[in-house]
Amino acid sequence: MKELFNNIIDYNLIENYSFEKLKQSLILPIRLDGVYLNIFSCNDSQVENLDTKYLIKNFYLKKEFILFFLDDIENRIRLYNLSILCIKKSEINSKYIEEFINKILFKAITLRSSDIHIESLENSIVIRYRIDGILKLFYIFKKSFITVISSYLKMISNLDITQNRLPLDSSFSYYIEKVKYDFRISTMPTIYGESIVLRVLHSNKVKKDLKTLGFSSDMFSKVEKILRLNQGLVLISGPTGSGKSTTLYSIIQMLNTQHKKIITIEDPVEYKIPQVQQVNIQDEIGLSFDKVLKNILRQDPDIILIGEIRDSYSLQIALQASLTGHIVFASIHANNSIETVFRLIDLKADKYLLSSTLKYIISQRLILNLCKYCKGKGCSRCNFTFYSGRSCIAEVLNIDNNISSMILKGSALNEINEYLKQINFKTMLDDGILKVEENITTLDEVYKVL
Ligand SMILES: [Zn+2]
Repeated sequence: MKELFNNIIDYNLIENYSFEKLKQSLILPIRLDGVYLNIFSCNDSQVENLDTKYLIKNFYLKKEFILFFLDDIENRIRLYNLSILCIKKSEINSKYIEEFINKILFKAITLRSSDIHIESLENSIVIRYRIDGILKLFYIFKKSFITVISSYLKMISNLDITQNRLPLDSSFSYYIEKVKYDFRISTMPTIYGESIVLRVLHSNKVKKDLKTLGFSSDMFSKVEKILRLNQGLVLISGPTGSGKSTTLYSIIQMLNTQHKKIITIEDPVEYKIPQVQQVNIQDEIGLSFDKVLKNILRQDPDIILIGEIRDSYSLQIALQASLTGHIVFASIHANNSIETVFRLIDLKADKYLLSSTLKYIISQRLILNLCKYCKGKGCSRCNFTFYSGRSCIAEVLNIDNNISSMILKGSALNEINEYLKQINFKTMLDDGILKVEENITTLDEVYKVL
């Protein structure tokens, strides 16, 4: 595997070339270490055009090509050109920095990044994108470029351009290919200069349905039963970063009609859903979780989404509401669906209330999909990580009459597990193995996340 972090760009090397020439030949020499000359290239590169007369002091020089896609090479060459132009001109607001930022953001959007990290290192700055939960290094630029980037981003976020010694945060909107995107910006002074993180807020662009989340058809048909409930409690469990809130949002979106009043309590609101009454917790002004919970039923809702069951109090409200003709959805930290039941009992849930209200528990994890371009060989589409995109592996436990009576009489874990075996309950592991058989992911990945 090519560890791209080692492919530090040697700026002295690039400056020997005219960008026009690199653009024509679609090659980008990045490093010379005495024996090897590393070059980014693609299938359309005219490698014979690479003039090595500046470089060859060593007779045994070997050229090593690192293969990229055409648009990627063009983009990288243009970005280096822009970064040089920006440092030379250094006047903010110039069209070069605007084009540069545009390209950086556009790339992030097309790669489905959640965050863009622009970091100062000792001798350079790097740009990394968080894609499918994992940071991937994309670009390395000259250290002096950080001032230009930082000033421009602060300017469009209405921040003080001269302030780089204290953390700042703000947000900005940006049009990319005529579509408006929102970004949250955070800057932090570090020992080598500023670290800037941009969070991509897909504000009103969320139109995910459960199928695109990678739920298998078996799980999907179980979730469809959840959508037909009239009342009761539905929980989604999993650790942080297991995609719980995305699943909850998708379900809410499927239930969102003009005949239903849906109210959510979130900390914070991650996506805005049209028509849904979303409450953003703001402890600093006294709009606390408990205060909203206490008053929520007076809003006459049909469906309530409680961001997270965090203590006995929120659980009690959730149980009460689901007993009185409401459908309550909530997420909870637990490893699997059976553990969720015992977590509720730990939170002092009334066993009678619990057995009569709890209807379904969904447990889930996100797994990395094998890159569909290279299927495991490594390519520039997956940034040589073999994986690209994520799917959900899940288990959906229906609290049937038997389980409900076991909850009521306080049955032990192994007793419930025994029953699940009898009814051939499909666990997350079963779902994962199915995805391995379908060549969507690997067994390694399934075991890693479970
Ligand atoms: Zn690949």
